[in-house]
Amino acid sequence: MTAEVLSLDLTELRSVILHHWGIDTLRALQEPAIKAVLSGRDSLVVLPTGGGKSLCYQAPAVLRGDTTVVVSPLISLMKDQVDSLQACGIRALQLDSSQTVAQRSDYIKEIKQGLVRLLFVSPERLMQTDLCQLLQEINVRTFAIDEAHCISHWGHDFRPEYRQLSQLKEIFPRASIHAYTATATEHVRQDIVKQLGLHNPEVLIGSADRPNLTFLIVSRRDSTKQIMEVIDRHRGEGGIIYCLRRSDVDGLASSLTRLGVKAMPYHAGLSSQQRTETQEAFIAEQCDVVVATVAFGMGIDRSNVRYVAHVALPKSLEHYQQETGRAGRDGLEAECVLLYSGSDFFTWKSIIDKSASEPNADPDFATNSIKQLKDMDGYCRAAACRHSLLVRYFGQDYPNDSCNACDICLGLTVAVPEADIIAQKILSCVARLKERYGVGYVVAVLRGENTQNIRNRNDDKLSTFGLLKGQNAADVRDWIYQLINQDVLAQEEIETEPGRTIPILRLNNASWQVMRKERNVRLLQPLRQEKGEQSKKSKTESESWSGVDRELFEELRALRKQLAQERQVPPYIIFADATLRELSKSRPSSLLKMRNIYGIGDAKLRDFGKLFLNLLVEHCRTKSLPMDL
Ligand code: ADP
Repeated sequence: MTAEVLSLDLTELRSVILHHWGIDTLRALQEPAIKAVLSGRDSLVVLPTGGGKSLCYQAPAVLRGDTTVVVSPLISLMKDQVDSLQACGIRALQLDSSQTVAQRSDYIKEIKQGLVRLLFVSPERLMQTDLCQLLQEINVRTFAIDEAHCISHWGHDFRPEYRQLSQLKEIFPRASIHAYTATATEHVRQDIVKQLGLHNPEVLIGSADRPNLTFLIVSRRDSTKQIMEVIDRHRGEGGIIYCLRRSDVDGLASSLTRLGVKAMPYHAGLSSQQRTETQEAFIAEQCDVVVATVAFGMGIDRSNVRYVAHVALPKSLEHYQQETGRAGRDGLEAECVLLYSGSDFFTWKSIIDKSASEPNADPDFATNSIKQLKDMDGYCRAAACRHSLLVRYFGQDYPNDSCNACDICLGLTVAVPEADIIAQKILSCVARLKERYGVGYVVAVLRGENTQNIRNRNDDKLSTFGLLKGQNAADVRDWIYQLINQDVLAQEEIETEPGRTIPILRLNNASWQVMRKERNVRLLQPLRQEKGEQSKKSKTESESWSGVDRELFEELRALRKQLAQERQVPPYIIFADATLRELSKSRPSSLLKMRNIYGIGDAKLRDFGKLFLNLLVEHCRTKSLPMDL
């Protein structure tokens, strides 16, 4: 294809995108990604969640007016894209096992007539002979492989069915294949290219950073109370809370419900009906909060999740990125809060050790898991910008000095003054107690607690008794774990009776170096905010809400929910939150002016414009507000 033809296509492409999606500018890598599709060159596109991968294959299909086949791993993901394309006035459909014979034969007819722009299928269905023949008949030129990392053993979501796609190039030698994924290490990337047999692919890798996410690592004190504080900052908005165990999920979900939060549980121990109910209620915005284990994840495409909270440490940074990735898919600000306690490291470690001791366990797996866990733990303890640490972990540079969107850069986590002195006090207390006790007892002695247990052992006579009097117990406990994680203190399991072990604190060489002032430590603690002091907001958050009439936003949201219910689609399919915020900011007074709002293409203007306009006009009339700002 010549450069001239391609540039012509791009001008037309822009008008197609505006007309259907109400989007007027392409993001950095979307243009070359779209060019690769239009010129029939294989490609691999790596963009973070919410980076706009789908437009890269959807827009060329609409522009060319032929059929692009999209491979997707889950029915729910396909449905989401089909609903969203249909709402933009684009014919799309999916072939899956839930359809009746009659329905499928209607669909096949439509496909044969060339009316379908995007056809979604699972990899195993695509490889069925009759479908392959049909696609050859209509001369399919483009295949898009969504969630392409599923093809790789090295990815976190390996799906054996994806491996069948390696035959695609042989069956459709003239078609181009385009792979899309959010997570791909170098290893996974190479595997995708190899498995799919991509020829000289255009490889486009975007920044792994998600600037709209604010990462907050907070020391865990009282999880229910702390989670309630997060929820209170986002009343009525969607959030996901990840717990380690099923019992934690059930406990927290019922506590939150008792506190008046619309929360539902999700874990593998619930029946499939219960899980579907939770998932559907969350997507339809009938439930605000899902409390879940990591089983809740892929296929949750609600784009306006405003926060993801972790009550316990995730087991790797890969998991953390995946799980926090579910926040802010619409590009608007979202908060990711992790309640950190150094003890989680040991909980995970004992889970890993247990599985490593099982017959046939892979020893490399345990070693790798411990390494990943250490990286995750180190991330929480580091006193550096969280965005920068994450991006660098995934092998990229982070160009900014400050992200303005993490606890460190916002100044919410600060270094403890005189950390070395505090460490010396803790370590000498462990020494005085002859390295025989666990964290809880050491904390009690340091704080000078008046307990029977301490008195019986005469430990109230020790010179280190009450050395940290007046300090909060949770702080002292936290500092002890920070010292363990800096390897200047150790925790060891000792057997108290056959089969029963308890963890006790032990000193090591580094402990003595700290006590002799030959080595420094660094301790962190949350910034203490005065009562009534405003919590700091990230730059993205302040910008995206600025000028938005919140009351109007909520009214528009209610209308959106009602329309979504009538049409049996998720609310974000009708309009994204960004569209509602823009509407409540600029308050257009006519359909013509509404056409300039982000996310309102021709089909949505036709289907929903009048209803939203009436609401806007009525709101501005009753409140005597100006329009067309
Ligand atoms: P991904 O598949 O990479 O996770 P999506 O394709 O779902 O991301 O896009 C995320 C959101 O960004 C969608 O709401 C989409 O409409 C929006 N979007 C995509 N491209 C653009 C763009 N160029 N400008 C503004 N919004 C965009």
